[in-house]
Amino acid sequence: MERTLGAKKRIALVAHDHKKDELLEWAVANKKKLIQHSLFATGTTGTILEQALGLPITKLLSGPLGGDQQIGAMIAEAKLDILIFFWDPMEAQPHDPDVKALLRLSATYNLPVACNAATADFMFAASFMTTEYKALQTDYSTYLKRKLPEVNL
Ligand code: PGA
Repeated sequence: MERTLGAKKRIALVAHDHKKDELLEWAVANKKKLIQHSLFATGTTGTILEQALGLPITKLLSGPLGGDQQIGAMIAEAKLDILIFFWDPMEAQPHDPDVKALLRLSATYNLPVACNAATADFMFAASFMTTEYKALQTDYSTYLKRKLPEVNL
């Protein structure tokens, strides 16, 4: 099983507050590459990036208000190809379960994720960024057909 990521990628960008400057710097340096793709972002990150880049970005809700979950839903529904997620390792987040869920769904669907500028640089240097890529998918059919405990009505 596989998911095909098109040549033009659907990319979500998210940064925690103390990482927004790093993401902004990275995005400005990579504007020429980002312009080739469809961009999505959590609310605040998206507003800042849109102003700095002058590129259209589909803005979701602010992360702690459900934006992370919206991105998670996009991953589950195969509506996203890449996640650039600069999460803050030095500060507890009120929406930590959402952060974890986003990373978990990325692992579930073998979605490319960059959690720092170095990984994003490697990712964007890859030829797959501008060509089709087939991401192998785990077969979850055994899980879906699992035997459930008996339900007593
Ligand atoms: P924000 O959300 O872009 O709305 O600040 C980021 C996050 O998920 O914490």
